[in-house]
Amino acid sequence: MSRHSLTFLGAAGTVTGSKHLLEVDGRRVLVDCGLFQGLKDLRLRNWEPFAIDPASIDAVILTHAHLDHCGYLPRLVGAGYRGRIFCTPATKDLCSLVLPDAARLQEEDAREANRRGYSKHSPALPLFTQADAARALSQLQPVGYERPIPVLGDGVRAPAPSTPSPPPPEATVEFINAGHLLGSAYARVRIGDYTILFGGDLGRYGRPVLPDPSSVDEADVLLLESTYGDRLHVADDSGERLATIVRETAARGGKLIVPSFAIGRVEEVLYWLKRLEDERRIPQLPVYVDSPMAIGALQFYADRLGELDAEIATGSNPAAALGSDLTQSGSDPTRSNFPANRGGRGQTPNQTPARRRVAAFATARLVTVNSPQQSADLVASRQPAIVIASSGMATGGRVLRHLAATLPNPKHTVLFVGYQAAGTRGRELTDGAREIKLLGRLVPVAARVERIDSMSAHADASEILRWLSGFSRAPRVTYLVHGEPAALEALAARITSERGWPVHIAAHRERVELPPSR
Ligand SMILES: [Zn+2]
Repeated sequence: MSRHSLTFLGAAGTVTGSKHLLEVDGRRVLVDCGLFQGLKDLRLRNWEPFAIDPASIDAVILTHAHLDHCGYLPRLVGAGYRGRIFCTPATKDLCSLVLPDAARLQEEDAREANRRGYSKHSPALPLFTQADAARALSQLQPVGYERPIPVLGDGVRAPAPSTPSPPPPEATVEFINAGHLLGSAYARVRIGDYTILFGGDLGRYGRPVLPDPSSVDEADVLLLESTYGDRLHVADDSGERLATIVRETAARGGKLIVPSFAIGRVEEVLYWLKRLEDERRIPQLPVYVDSPMAIGALQFYADRLGELDAEIATGSNPAAALGSDLTQSGSDPTRSNFPANRGGRGQTPNQTPARRRVAAFATARLVTVNSPQQSADLVASRQPAIVIASSGMATGGRVLRHLAATLPNPKHTVLFVGYQAAGTRGRELTDGAREIKLLGRLVPVAARVERIDSMSAHADASEILRWLSGFSRAPRVTYLVHGEPAALEALAARITSERGWPVHIAAHRERVELPPSR
């Protein structure tokens, strides 16, 4: 049989920068193309020359639209990658939000570095540009779930004219729902009868908004994420912890700041707030979504109702069916219409499908904040409120100004709802920092800092094991990726002891020959 190899170019020993290079008879497929985030040593990797010539890659496959899985694409394209980028249609939608936004931030950073002269490069250049992002988007090739299609051949990479190359091996990719984010998938790559399952990020069971991760019953080789490999999420099926935090913050007259990834977490947070309001377990506070990208993402969620959890899709949850008057305007100066009205949708109040659908996320006093001025007004406001703003690990974005304004005062609460990678402000705060560096100064931390992992989009250790129990036979090898060292070690130990599978913790830039098929 032919020889296949994998090279781990990211998310090996860490949770960001996912990039896995599959080589099949000299053909190259890159699975995921993410940015490194968090610790400076990791972020510097984004600037290194790519490990191989991007023009030598035949195809790219994306598992989902989180930046740590897709955010390096514009850089790859800027460096010469011209082939197709396979992903699900919803991943394509979400990429159309996150890639241009990431490019804009890169360009702003470079401008700022040049203005202040603090880069050793003159002039400082962005990691990639908005033109690179636009080009990357034009190379996206949407493919629906569970429809295997060829990834090699088809003239993806033109053979050199003088050396006729042998026909490419037959390889297909199929996307399978991972339940982690709208459009998220495992990528099942088949080469003949040899199967490599790239797990991407694994979602969770029995959660609102997204469906459970689909089960898979076999693979020769499995790449498995390990983010929470050493942890169990505290069960909070009724939202009681969130309700308590909201009530206590409101009783102190404070603001509740929720740093949140603009895509994915915002929907879950809004779902719970709406449900708690409808069940009259929290007061009806103004809820601000201070992120234009999050507002766009909400619309994509609403447009793809069929890909969401059945509870939301059918409106069987009474909470989801209520509160459909999304344009109710209060006296709030920052009030703007909810995305149901975008692009000519929702012209007839309360009646159109889009309007009904987003109702699942529409709290009674929901306000979407668009302009920077509205955001600044909100930062300055002393009114008790819930503010959801990105970024989720407080590494940048509009949430920084909200944090600078609220952290010094004990009446406010900052609530983290996602994984906080090493080296981020979110990790510092959840680890109990008494002061943090923010917007060029040291800010004392007097506000309450809370963390609710039950809203995480990542499976915990037991959920990972539950998903593995769907396999009818052990993979020849399971590579653990996308985890910090303690999580990787703990998960490796559990898989070995509970399932007896061969496990290998991937190392950065390690190249492995894949075992032959049985
Ligand atoms: Zn993810």
